[in-house]
Amino acid sequence: MKKFLTILLVVAMLIPFAALSETYNLATAGSDGELSITMGTNAEFPPFEFVEGEDVVGVDADIAHEIANDLGLTLLISNMAFDSIIPALTSGQIDMGIAAMTVKEERLLSVDFSEPYYNARQALIVKVGGSVVDAETLKDKTIGVQNGTTGDYAAEEYTADVQRFGKALDAVLELQNGKLDAVIVDEPVAKNIVAALGNPDLILLDAVAFEDEFYAIAVAKGHPELLEAINATIKRIQEDGTLDAILLKYFPTEE
Ligand code: GLN
Repeated sequence: MKKFLTILLVVAMLIPFAALSETYNLATAGSDGELSITMGTNAEFPPFEFVEGEDVVGVDADIAHEIANDLGLTLLISNMAFDSIIPALTSGQIDMGIAAMTVKEERLLSVDFSEPYYNARQALIVKVGGSVVDAETLKDKTIGVQNGTTGDYAAEEYTADVQRFGKALDAVLELQNGKLDAVIVDEPVAKNIVAALGNPDLILLDAVAFEDEFYAIAVAKGHPELLEAINATIKRIQEDGTLDAILLKYFPTEE
């Protein structure tokens, strides 16, 4: 009888999980059979996602934990190249792409986006005393970017000589070594990398009026329930102060 009750209890506990997995059409189950939701990201983009010890941490990882908690699911994080995230979504390997990803019309052809959670823009990093001093001198120069990003597209507006790197840091290191004339990368990340390198010769040049960009969470098309659940968490963390607290944690020096 006791055994029967235990089985009954276990089955009763599993039903909501199974229903959840079906409702949200989730790609993955955890290694121990726990139901999980998988975030795909490129953990080379501090402070939004970076590796600390064995963990992927950052603004986006914290947001993903909020989503998983609200859904009662375990969060798994899959670290990959930025330009692999959309293919991983469309092929069902991950459930959500959270990677400081800008909502772009071209991307909306293959994935859906949540409501935005952060407003950013690109930034131009140059070397003091270098050849780039304004928008005019940026033309036809060698510009480093992270492959497949909005910085990559912005650089193409100025030059045919775009040097693409897997991570923004490698581009900035090349700039530091004198191999590039400038780097274009998302402003919060540009500030973070320049501060971390502590090289006074690297500066953010406020010379180009880059457009506003909105970061949102990408999901495969045809998952309206998952998108709705993600939007509900974004709304909650915007309203209850959780998002501000997360941003403050990773941007301690900014308002
Ligand atoms: N916001 C940029 C984009 O969406 C860069 C994102 C990233 O490199 N993680 O293209």
